[in-house]
Amino acid sequence: MSEDIRSLSEEQLHQRFKELGYPAFRTKQVLQWLDNGCASFDEMSNLPLAMREQLAREFVIPGVTVLRRLESQLDETVKYLFGLSDGETVESVLMSYHHGWSQCLSTQVGCRMGCSFCATGMGGLSRNLSAAEMLAQIEAAQRDRGIRVSSVVLMGMGEPLDNYEQVLTFLKTLARPGGVNIGMRHVSLSTCGLVDGIYRLMEERLQLTLSVSLHAPNNEIRSRLMPINRRYPVEELLKACREYVRVTGRRISFEYAMIDGVNDTDACALELASRLKGMLCHVNLIPANEVHGKDHRRSSQARLRRFQQLLEQQGINVTVRRTLGADISASCGQLRRQERKEDEIK
Ligand code: SAH
Ligand code: SF4
Repeated sequence: MSEDIRSLSEEQLHQRFKELGYPAFRTKQVLQWLDNGCASFDEMSNLPLAMREQLAREFVIPGVTVLRRLESQLDETVKYLFGLSDGETVESVLMSYHHGWSQCLSTQVGCRMGCSFCATGMGGLSRNLSAAEMLAQIEAAQRDRGIRVSSVVLMGMGEPLDNYEQVLTFLKTLARPGGVNIGMRHVSLSTCGLVDGIYRLMEERLQLTLSVSLHAPNNEIRSRLMPINRRYPVEELLKACREYVRVTGRRISFEYAMIDGVNDTDACALELASRLKGMLCHVNLIPANEVHGKDHRRSSQARLRRFQQLLEQQGINVTVRRTLGADISASCGQLRRQERKEDEIK
């Protein structure tokens, strides 16, 4: 089987090229092409034809292709359905902010965490994405729009800490000058609360922003929404978060999807505030997206404002997430499911 050329480090590639009889400068040339998002050996025009042909026999450049593109009529949001080399698909969303383009990336095909409100979790996990496939999502969007992505959030399909090794390789490659070149301060990683993974990530002392999907102030509600809470209850999760803040000095962002009648009461707001008191953190309230086939409803605007106010009164930093791309159901997981259903009907 052909080898994934992008999964090799510079030294490994150098070694492989040496075995194939190529001089050292060829490694640099090929890396430069790969860093520029080149998706085919054919296009590496400064290599001799015979070398390009040999590389194509020995290696693959795993990439993504744009299968579908939904453009919002309300703002500049673009949602992609990307195809992978084995026929699997993932979603990604490109958003325009005043500080530049931000892209939401997938880290897995599907997800095995089974959160009750999430479209991605409905079909389980198909497979992990490789680091190269994560990078390729950025390169494909940049090529497609003729823009540079300046920040990245790992909030698309999948649980990043359930694909720890590849996500970490991806993060390290991301910051390499010459390539996509996005620094850790412009990266957010969102987790449903895999406590072991949080401790592991903490040891890396990366300057990224850790987002934790909390969605409930206590175990009773959280276990109903998120099965992972039975393994890592709220107390353990928040303990890991406090430790993370202490060691990295970085503020944690808690995601809280407001679901009508489930987690949006005054009592929930007060309990949440008492749990988070004193922690260097920030709460991001998200009007929950309604998902076809699920019966949860999003909280009203009035409820959202009231919840926000209560948290503020308790001294908690809180923002309400702006909804971008509302007309193209920009949250992840839904487009892929729709596409698969259409496939099944065909
Ligand atoms: N698996 C990771 C990251 C991907 S999900 C995680 O769970 O954190 C990205 C975010 O979208 C998470 O905060 C998740 O809880 C949230 N999310 C999933 N489905 C949602 C929905 N229907 N409405 C609002 N937020 C949702
Ligand atoms: Fe997986 Fe995150 Fe969806 Fe939960 S919310 S099922 S962890 S993608």
